[in-house]
Amino acid sequence: MRNWNGWGDESVSTPLGKGRRTFIEDRIGPGTPPPEATLQDLVGKVSPSRIAESPSLRISTDAELRVRRSRGQSLPDLAALRYGRLEAVPDGVARPETTSDIRRLLAFARETVANLIPYGGGTSVTGGVSAYVSPNPLITVDMSRFAGVRDVDEKSGLVTVGSGTTGPALATALAGRGLAIGHEPQSFEFATVGGWVAARGAGLRSLGSGRIEEIFAGGRLESPAGSMDMEPFPASAAGPDLRHVVLGSEGRLGFLMDVVLRAERFPDLDVVDAYAVADWDHALEAARSLVQNRVGLSMLRLSTPAETRTLMGFSNKPSDRRLLNAYLGLRRRPTEYCLVLVGARGRRKPAKAIRAEAASVLKQWGGVKIPGVAAAWSKSRFQAPYLRSALWEEGYASDTLETATSWSGASRLLSRLETAIAGALAPWDEHVWAFTHFSHLYPSGTSLYTTFMFRLAADPDETLARWLAIKRAATEVIAAERATISHHHGIGTDLAEYLPAEKGALGMHALRSLVQAFDPEGIMNPGVLLADR
Ligand SMILES: Cc1cc2nc3c(=O)[nH]c(=O)nc-3n(C[C@H](O)[C@H](O)[C@H](O)COP(=O)(O)OP(=O)(O)OC[C@H]3O[C@@H](n4cnc5c(N)ncnc54)[C@H](O)[C@@H]3O)c2cc1C
Repeated sequence: MRNWNGWGDESVSTPLGKGRRTFIEDRIGPGTPPPEATLQDLVGKVSPSRIAESPSLRISTDAELRVRRSRGQSLPDLAALRYGRLEAVPDGVARPETTSDIRRLLAFARETVANLIPYGGGTSVTGGVSAYVSPNPLITVDMSRFAGVRDVDEKSGLVTVGSGTTGPALATALAGRGLAIGHEPQSFEFATVGGWVAARGAGLRSLGSGRIEEIFAGGRLESPAGSMDMEPFPASAAGPDLRHVVLGSEGRLGFLMDVVLRAERFPDLDVVDAYAVADWDHALEAARSLVQNRVGLSMLRLSTPAETRTLMGFSNKPSDRRLLNAYLGLRRRPTEYCLVLVGARGRRKPAKAIRAEAASVLKQWGGVKIPGVAAAWSKSRFQAPYLRSALWEEGYASDTLETATSWSGASRLLSRLETAIAGALAPWDEHVWAFTHFSHLYPSGTSLYTTFMFRLAADPDETLARWLAIKRAATEVIAAERATISHHHGIGTDLAEYLPAEKGALGMHALRSLVQAFDPEGIMNPGVLLADR
């Protein structure tokens, strides 16, 4: 069973432990856990539904289900659930199984002036699936039953799946056929194919397999204005590509139903190596060289010294850290360094050559291959999100933000961003611990992904004010540096107010016109993407 107030499966427990607690306490002070609401508290407070239970429409009005589907994974979402301040839950949760269920739901929404929130895995970190106070009935449409592999065209490498399919289910179904989908976001365990496309994400292997826009080949959209089929052409010059209209549409245009994905051959070799590079500028130059020379890596991830220290501090195994430091000492390398992870994947021979080429480039920039770290990182990668709950339970908030910019602007943006975040809680006399990695790299630039941690207040309003101060400080720097306000998390409601600065007046007019064309009555996910609620 999914956790109702945080990441993950209820059966998995990832305690913070002494080492991690000391690490964070040393940086931002001792945490005080705020009072926690129980699921029963919240279920008991749910107001009566404004719609009737409907087995024929597959709508449930069960109070617990409405609480469980009321929010995603943004910090305001978690705060609402944990502090027990859930201002709104949907009036019902629909769980459609067929396209005809979706069509009937759209007709029902039109008749009852209800709004619909498409809900994939509910892993949005930008408020993309959050229920809100509304004069109209609200129905969250859980797509989990619209799942499974429908068709595999092995010759073309095209796979058709239901949009509610999760990453692990898809990987398992395809592995037996010698295929794989290269999209692996950290939310892989629960995020769905529909959510990947609708939020325009990027997975760990974006360098090799591409972002979702390169993997998404076509499919069908059911919108209030009708259906739209998108053929999986390998390429086309037939005017603007409507697939790019659907990518990043965040539920505003309709429901993604069957989705066609470009699959790759299941790799013979899939390896990650870790290097220690003594300083950030060298690590950056090594990475730029690897990407601009199109060496062919499947992934590349650079941690700043602060992030490297945090990863090591959070590894919870002091003996491993001591061994690693001894190893670096033997190689006459500093124990303060930047961790660089490089991945090679594919057919054995070319992947080995890519691995060797990366080793040679990193050596030129002073990199030293370090043992054990890549394996430990790969093993714990999907467990890391569980630590967010463990931190909360010890009185700490942890959140992330991401952006992308050109190589020429990256260092200045990083420095301004970290300075702005570090000072954002000065009015409260509180500290923020922030650290960054670059993990999606392109010939012309890179993404920046910053994690920040701060202390929770007993009062939820104060915690949210602290969070907002950090987000505002960071987003203003991002906008001033003309970087994008989202590299892969999407816009949701949290960033919608900043979209006009990026798209401009005509761009926003075009986006609003698109939404109007697909959804003239404004049924679909209002407030998300466009600040129009
Ligand atoms: C711990 C953690 C790690 C993450 N790591 C990554 C990462 O590495 N890379 C990355 O890209 N993102 C990441 N994310 C963000 C999030 O997981 C992605 O945006 C993901 O693609 C969302 O998928 P989902 O199925 O959970 O969508 P949801 O959260 O359910 O929905 C996201 C948006 O898409 C819409 N939507 C969902 N399904 C459909 C559909 N069938 N039709 C139309 N609209 C739909 C929703 O209305 C909403 O606006 C992470 C999130 C968390 C919590």
